[in-house]
Amino acid sequence: MGTHYICTGGCGGVSETPGACHTGGCPDYGTPLKECHCEDGMHSEVKEQEGDESGKESAV
Ligand SMILES: [Zn+2]
Ligand SMILES: [Zn+2]
Repeated sequence: MGTHYICTGGCGGVSETPGACHTGGCPDYGTPLKECHCEDGMHSEVKEQEGDESGKESAV
């Protein structure tokens, strides 16, 4: 698996080419997919960045 692009809105969308989320009802619908280079399918390098924000929320 090489470079791929994922949606972090919760729909779990993965694409091999740059683009935007096309999943109706996804919070990130129409948002550009994020570039990821993971080899294990966990997309941790992208999801860890997103997790920063939710961590702040739970700390409040
Ligand atoms: Zn999505
Ligand atoms: Zn990935």
